[in-house]
Amino acid sequence: MSLRRIAALSILGATVLALFIAGSLILLTTAIHRMTSRTGAAVESIRLAEEAEIDLLLHERSVTPLIRRSIESDLLGRLARGRAYVTTAEESSVLEDSAAAVEAYFDVARDPSTPSEENARRHQEAYAALERLATINVAQARESLESSSRWNDLADRIGIAVAGTVLLVAGGLFVWVRGRVFEPILELSTAMERFGSGDHDVRAAERGPIEILEMGRRFNEMAVAIARQRRAQLAFLGGVAHDLRNPISVLRASVALLGRDPNVSSDERSRSVLARIERQVSSMNRMIEDLLDASRIESGELELRLERFDLAELVEELIATFRDALPGRTIDLRRPEAAMTLLADRVRIEQVLANLIGNAAKYSPPAAPIEVALEARGDEVVLRVTDQGVGIPDAELARIFEPFRRVGRHQAEVPGAGLGLFVVRRIVAVHGGRIEVESTVGRGSTFSVFLPRRVGSDESLALDRASRIR
Ligand code: ADP
Repeated sequence: MSLRRIAALSILGATVLALFIAGSLILLTTAIHRMTSRTGAAVESIRLAEEAEIDLLLHERSVTPLIRRSIESDLLGRLARGRAYVTTAEESSVLEDSAAAVEAYFDVARDPSTPSEENARRHQEAYAALERLATINVAQARESLESSSRWNDLADRIGIAVAGTVLLVAGGLFVWVRGRVFEPILELSTAMERFGSGDHDVRAAERGPIEILEMGRRFNEMAVAIARQRRAQLAFLGGVAHDLRNPISVLRASVALLGRDPNVSSDERSRSVLARIERQVSSMNRMIEDLLDASRIESGELELRLERFDLAELVEELIATFRDALPGRTIDLRRPEAAMTLLADRVRIEQVLANLIGNAAKYSPPAAPIEVALEARGDEVVLRVTDQGVGIPDAELARIFEPFRRVGRHQAEVPGAGLGLFVVRRIVAVHGGRIEVESTVGRGSTFSVFLPRRVGSDESLALDRASRIR
């Protein structure tokens, strides 16, 4: 189903529900208004009938003709006003009967020759007619109240049913939209984020509404094309690096040979020029090695040679080499007393460490100390390299592991191809570990490598991983 269809159906459902609620409200308010008016009319009629009864009693007792006439006109006026509150044919006929009975009583009362028994009979009839009028209105008021209460019950039931339906439909819609729309969008966005931070093997699940499914498909096509392009790029650069390897080796050998020449070693200026050439050649050599590794990783040709070794010893040896190569630089090591046996590719793990310590030295001032810490934590060993250097902006933290990614204005001054961390992450991943980085611009960075300690039967697992280097 497409997003447009989902939206159209949701809007249609909401409209039907809104129309139903509006219709029910109109119906209920009209009915309740009718009941209230009827009750009001009945109450008014009862009041008029009762006042008329009192008038009738007063008329009988009064002897002054003037007062009797005034009572007569009041009573007839009340009966006339009562017609405005008549709501049924039965009430109308009872009201007319009462008016007729009252008129008949007044006729005989006005005639002084009327015998008193006839007078009393007419009075009684008029009173009884007014009593019937009051009774019929009481019954009507009661019936209106009962009817109001029935409508009220109906309104309650409709309200509860509508609330229940809205809750049910909204809940169902939420669950459905979450599963069918939001989850695919989230998956797609996670895939994009992971791809953006360098995981070029990630692909989006092609599911959900048509538009999102289409986006997932397009993303996957783009990811495949980019991965293919990058592989081709790295393969090309790998080829170039391979061709450059021989001249660089010759250059290195020549520099070494020249260094041993007494004419050169005795001359201060020649020694300094030679040292500079040597530094540049080894820097070029490192870039070429990184390029070759990156291209081997991309083409799945990098192989692990697993062996058991003491990681703490390896770290110590490597730090000693760095201290020799970087005189004046403080490199501290914190390690546990005990050996830390690891089943891994020794050369590659050394490469990881050398890269991290090399970067710490490259991206911090010469006087700033570097700290290397080694720690066993459960089934893992954790290796941290901390520097007090330039740091990395937050936005770049995830991206520095991408090939050719270099950050900040220092890159022009510092040699490098932007491939070291890409290779490092792949090596760590293939050992079943992970690498994390924390950094503050201007204060320094800490790279932490987590490696599982493989012992005994884990060997087969490690070997299996080695065959899946990419
Ligand atoms: P490079 O050959 O450029 O050093 P890397 O892949 O090793 O390549 O590092 C990628 C980028 O990450 C570097 O160019 C640098 O901008 C940044 N970076 C790596 N390590 C550090 C560090 N310790 N301090 C600051 N920035 C670093």
